[in-house]
Amino acid sequence: MDDLQVLMDRAHRHGLRMTRQRVAILQALCELGGHASVEKIYRQTTLHRRDVDLSTVYRTLERLHDLRILSQTDLGRGCAEYEVMTDQPHHHLVCQGCGQVFDLDHSYLSAAAKRIRVDFNFEPIFDHFSIFGWCKECRRMELRKQTSTEA
Ligand SMILES: [Zn+2]
Ligand SMILES: [Zn+2]
Repeated sequence: MDDLQVLMDRAHRHGLRMTRQRVAILQALCELGGHASVEKIYRQTTLHRRDVDLSTVYRTLERLHDLRILSQTDLGRGCAEYEVMTDQPHHHLVCQGCGQVFDLDHSYLSAAAKRIRVDFNFEPIFDHFSIFGWCKECRRMELRKQTSTEA
């Protein structure tokens, strides 16, 4: 079975009726792979067909996110980015200086999730997390700036 068929089966099992527009959106997600914004997904659907409207893309992605078929994150690019959920969640470190994105293994957050569960009796949803900060290079540049102004 290809990715599209798997995705369609999952959506169907969650009671989502497979309209032509929805199939086109799922197909676009498969073709793009990895992170994709609403705009990017919309543009991809227009490559094949022209009768998918942007509001349907918005609504369908939201629906798929609610059903936990897609995860969503903010990589600091000014829009939400969607990705097909896999068995093992993954996360990101995003540099605010240069915009570089590093992958972060789920084990870093699963340890925190365990503590939150115990200490607060609260189930956190860590399905696709972006942690913002400063990479090594940007920190070094920042330090150099500080020392040059001090001198
Ligand atoms: Zn991701
Ligand atoms: Zn950086």
